Amino acid sequence: MRNGLRTRLSAEPRTTGAEKKEEKCPAGVCFSGGEGSASDMATIHDSARHHGALEQRPAAILFDRDGTLIVDVPYNGDPDQVVPMPGAADALHRVRVAGVRTGVVSNQSGIARGLLDEEDVQRVNERVAELLGPFDVWRFCPHGPEDGCACRKPRPGMILDAAAALGLPPARVAVVGDIGADVAAAAAAGALAVLVPTAATRHEEVESAPVLAADLAAAVDLLLAEQKAPVAFTGVRP
Ligand SMILES: [Mg+2]
Ligand SMILES: [Zn+2]
Repeated sequence: MRNGLRTRLSAEPRTTGAEKKEEKCPAGVCFSGGEGSASDMATIHDSARHHGALEQRPAAILFDRDGTLIVDVPYNGDPDQVVPMPGAADALHRVRVAGVRTGVVSNQSGIARGLLDEEDVQRVNERVAELLGPFDVWRFCPHGPEDGCACRKPRPGMILDAAAALGLPPARVAVVGDIGADVAAAAAAGALAVLVPTAATRHEEVESAPVLAADLAAAVDLLLAEQKAPVAFTGVRP
């Protein structure tokens, strides 16, 4: 089931697997035999046009950690409490196979709050990598909301820094997260954002997200599906 994409440009509710159709992308630029329905693809293209993104497959995808890659356990410093979100391992595998770089950008204000230290965060991150595979870049912000740092989302610092570490302009980077701060940080950095809401995501954050995906699989489908291969970017579309 790779449906579930919606944007605010469309009043459609999220589709379910039962509604899935075998239609191809109506714009003729998606991968053939796409798994999404025609209406899903139209929604993706509307979004791409509207936001000036997704013309190219991103060269890297930066993921929020808590609530996106793993179940959110607030201020967790215990590697044993790391539980991947549904479909995370498979989604990341597909990203890596596609040759798209991966990274993690995570607010960890528990450090500023004195609830855990950087070594705790590192241990949890190592467990994340054990369960979900290696990431090309990791960034976390140890500051609190009052610190005025440049890195804490919704500020763009971690995304800019991670993109620079990968040698990429931010416009070639996508950010996947579960709350409005992830989306805002991506926008401030000039990166594309995909929101994958959870039960904890606020309604207005869902409503205002430029691109929504029901789960990590759907988010990765969206980000990888736009082109069959990099060769398609020679300037001429079939
Ligand atoms: Mg999160
Ligand atoms: Zn910071």
